[in-house]
Formats: sequence, structure tokens, C-alpha cells
Amino acid sequence: MEPWMGRTAAVVDLGMLKNNLAEIRKKLKPGVELMAVLKGDGYRHGAEGLYPTLKACGVTNYAVALWSEGVALREHGATEPILVLGDTRDYDLDEAVRYNLDFPVFSVEYAKTVAEAAKRQGRKQNIQIKLDTGMSRIGFPDNDETLEAIKEISQMESLNMTGIFTHFARADEYDHKSAGKQLDRFLRMTEKLKEMGITFPKYHVANSPAILLMPDSQLDMVRAGDILYGLNPIDEEGFKKENFKEILSWYTYVVMVKEVPTGTEVGYGGTFVTKRPTKIATLPVGFADGYRRDLSNRGKVLIRGQEAPIIGRVCMDQCMVDVTDIPDVQRNDQVTLLGGDLSIQWMADLLQTNVDEIVCNISQRVPRVYI
Ligand code: PLP
Repeated sequence: MEPWMGRTAAVVDLGMLKNNLAEIRKKLKPGVELMAVLKGDGYRHGAEGLYPTLKACGVTNYAVALWSEGVALREHGATEPILVLGDTRDYDLDEAVRYNLDFPVFSVEYAKTVAEAAKRQGRKQNIQIKLDTGMSRIGFPDNDETLEAIKEISQMESLNMTGIFTHFARADEYDHKSAGKQLDRFLRMTEKLKEMGITFPKYHVANSPAILLMPDSQLDMVRAGDILYGLNPIDEEGFKKENFKEILSWYTYVVMVKEVPTGTEVGYGGTFVTKRPTKIATLPVGFADGYRRDLSNRGKVLIRGQEAPIIGRVCMDQCMVDVTDIPDVQRNDQVTLLGGDLSIQWMADLLQTNVDEIVCNISQRVPRVYI
């Protein structure tokens, strides 16, 4: 058993993170900056555990979803620019403006609210203009009123505009008709703003799939999430991830092995009935750990290098696997839930979801270990 193993552990390979960073940099044109997207606690890999390696590798820009995620990074020593991608409630702004985070702004009204909070705190607040060019979530629409709105915001004294950005809805498709239109809308808007004398230190649009498939979208900076973690950002059939490698694996151990006769029901609801004398191993993880209930009777784990199918329903804190065909399985044997052949991509395909949802589901009570 590995020394880091407790009941369960999600192990993050920082060497592999460095590998992925190097692979991203190979894709970037000279001078293009990299923003590491650490929202959702670093896609649940643990932002604070990743940050020292990212910093050591020269990453100078970060993004999070929530201002509280930005504060957590600041409290772990991050001094670099941190862009908050989501909204901050008005009543949190007086506190939030104290951490030197960049807030996205998507309406004049909200800009005013941020400006007033900054003024009350005697600060100048960094903001970035968020344009909606086709995703239909937060962002200014790409029209002439927006140009006037941005002009008004640019004149607000306690705000400092550090960037302008948009987000692709469909960059993960080989056919770039849709993402190309979004890029055109963004460039048209920023060109008009330039004609009005309004420029920004940073223009950025590219996410992971765009970094891989749309080099023209790199502009000043790219925002990398998925490929940093080695997660496949492209759903198209036949797409090869090249040298990006998943950096998270997930382990637990065997609590108990028992032999049961043919015809034994296993788990809640008796949804599995043994068809032969069966050796069952009980594992101490369940859906409270984010080991999804819909893996019941269709997931599998690795024990002693061999596959063991999940039998019966995954419970909240335990699950059962069939180890009849694996010799010598014993209490304390290490079990791979994710890793090796059981990749995050494999589980996403099995559960018909995307890789991001698989990693984001691994709950807080699973310790993250960095090797
Ligand atoms: N930029 C924004 C605004 C996002 O919401 C996200 C994540 O969805 C990213 C960048 C990173 O995307 P990806 O994980 O595809 O790199």
C-alpha cells in the first residue's frame, strides 16, 4: 500500500501537470500568455495544491469562478492577476474588492455597483469586460449600445479595465463555423472600440479546444482548463489528445473479502444476484465520495492489475465488486477507481457525460494527494 493511502485518495501527478503545461506552450504563438483556469477548485484537483507548481513553471495569470476561490488562492500566496469568471453578489463586493481580483463586468448597472464598492473602500478595482458573442450566458451583447456602455464604464474613476474577453460555445467541433462567427463578432467589437480610442491591456477568447484547433483565436492570452489537467476537451470522434495526460487518479482499498453461494442478492434492492459461487470484495467508497450511483452493476475497478466489476448498487459510503476471477485478493489490497486503463475519459463515456463532470463530482471528503 502506498504511504499516502488512507481510506481513499485522489492522487494528482504534478510531474504530469508540468508535462501538460509544456505541451500547451508548444501550441502557443510567441508572446501569447497563458491563464490557468482553476475554477471549481482546479476542476476539483485542488487549486491550492496545483498553484505552487504552476507558479514555479512561470504561469502568470489565473482564473477562478468565484471571488471566494480567488481569496483562497491569495491566502495561499498568489500575487498574480486572478480573474473571477462568474458574478459576485452585490452585498459581497465591499469585502471582495479588498483582494485585488479582476471582476468580469457585463452591464453598466453592475459596473456602477462595483465602482461604488471600490470607492467606499478607497480602492481602484480591476475589471474585465465580458462580451457574449454566442454563448448566451453572462456578457454584453455585441451591439452598438454595448460600445456606448463600455465607453461609460471606461470613464468610471474607481475602475481599471485590464482586459476584454468572450467564451466559445462550440470550439470543440472540427467545423468552426460557429466558433469562427464568435471570434469575428469579438474582433469586430474590439476594432470598433479601438476606433473610439478604447483599448485594453489584454484581449482573450481561447479555451482548451480553441488552443488545439483554432490558432487564430490565441490573441494576447489563452485560458486553459481541460488540457492543463489532461482532460480531453474535444468530443469529436477520432480526436487524439496528443501528449496531454490525465493528472488525476483515484484509489481506495479492500475492506473485506467474502465468499457467497450462487443465488445471493447483493446490495440495496438486490439488483445483482450471483450466478456462481462468488468472492465479493467490499470497498469503502460510495456516492458520498462522488463515486457515482449510476456505476451500479456497470462500473469496474482494478485490483492486482485485473478488472473487478461492480455488483449491486453503489451505496452512499461503500460498494461491492466481484473478485472471483482475481487470485488472492485480500483486505488492504489497493484498488484503482480511476487511473491506468480506467481513465477519466473511460468513465465519462460509460456514464455518457463529460470528463469535467467526472472530476468535479469527486467530493471534498476524498483527500487530494500531490506526488
Ligand atoms: N474560460 C471560461 C470563461 C470558462 O468558463 C472556462 C471553462 O469552462 C474556460 C475558459 C476553460 O475552458 P477549458 O476547460 O475548455 O479550457
